[in-house]
Amino acid sequence: MRILIVEDEAKVGSFIRRALEEESYAVDLCAEGTQGLDLALSGSYDLVILDLMLPGLPGLEVLKGIRKEKIQTPVLVLTARSQVDQRVKGLDAGADDYLTKPFAIEELLARVRALLRRGSGEATGLLQVKDLILNPATREVTRGGQRIELTVKEYALLEYMMRNASRVLTRPMIAEHVWSLDFDTFTNVIDVYVNYLRNKIDRGREPKLIHTVRGSGYVLRSESE
Ligand code: CA
Repeated sequence: MRILIVEDEAKVGSFIRRALEEESYAVDLCAEGTQGLDLALSGSYDLVILDLMLPGLPGLEVLKGIRKEKIQTPVLVLTARSQVDQRVKGLDAGADDYLTKPFAIEELLARVRALLRRGSGEATGLLQVKDLILNPATREVTRGGQRIELTVKEYALLEYMMRNASRVLTRPMIAEHVWSLDFDTFTNVIDVYVNYLRNKIDRGREPKLIHTVRGSGYVLRSESE
């Protein structure tokens, strides 16, 4: 899951970034409105965290710009306590949720999870393919009831694949959603990580869930065709 933060206060921005990265999200941070809008319009984000008071283009205009282009990426707006009217305008302009500064990081993380869950239309929040279950709230992964320990990147990759089960994911798609912007898609890092994941998820178990689609990429599904 890849998240864009548009926030000009360097301290706040890097604090949020660090917290999200610890939760295994891929994160891009941008401190200016116009650039933030350009990035958001690239459509490659699963969530945008948007501060309203920004240099360049104000946050509200960034939000309007995103919605004007019919991009449905969930947007979490950050406002100062004194900006009640801004908050209302933000929701009217298509924000999905807002958070008043200062906020507890746990609350931000909970709202991020809720918005990502809403985006993928899950009811329980659990992702399941056959006997493989991933709980985004606790980041616990089990197969056949057995707990599987994953590294941060393995987890991020598996979550992305499970949210897109049965869909063929190309290497550039995986790079975009699991790694950050500057990631070099020509390296074989993705293949290496898919193999790590395969060893932990599929080795010694049936049916195999992670499949290579020759010339395209990878797919996670319960059938092997
Ligand atoms: Ca600001």
